[in-house]
Amino acid sequence: MNERTLSIIKPDGVRKGLIGEVIRRYEQEGLKIVAMKMVHLNKAEAKGFYAVHRGKPFFESLTVFMSSGPSVVMVLEGEKAIERHRQIMGATDPQQADEGTIRRMYADTIEQNIVHGSDSTETAAFEIPYFFSSSEIVG
Ligand code: ADP
Ligand code: MG
Repeated sequence: MNERTLSIIKPDGVRKGLIGEVIRRYEQEGLKIVAMKMVHLNKAEAKGFYAVHRGKPFFESLTVFMSSGPSVVMVLEGEKAIERHRQIMGATDPQQADEGTIRRMYADTIEQNIVHGSDSTETAAFEIPYFFSSSEIVG
């Protein structure tokens, strides 16, 4: 099934100069970029995006981190894009992530793990319009 998923290169990825690396990987893997922009989330926007994690012990720190600098947000499209992107990203904790995944290669901690990816069609349906209107998505 052709799907769309939301990717975020988080503030640590931007600070480490990994925008190009991550985008190159998506292009190599055949995930088509159909929307892209840079954003600097404020705290309220970070909390809204991660509302599903409200109440968890890492929520406060996560939203401070996500609002600590600019991020790159993208919509990726392709066959099984949600699952394929999750595989390319690797597990949430970089120490648990498979060899060759973005998080294993570049992430320092379970919190500062370089990339976000929608985990289901339902979350993609919430997350994509959180950043993009339909006219900002090409194709
Ligand atoms: P994923 O990003 O792999 O879908 P989750 O949805 O579980 O992971 O968590 C969202 C984000 O919250 C993670 O990417 C990470 O930045 C942060 N996070 C998750 N679990 C922890 C934790 N135990 N400690 C600190 N930060 C965490
Ligand atoms: Mg998640």
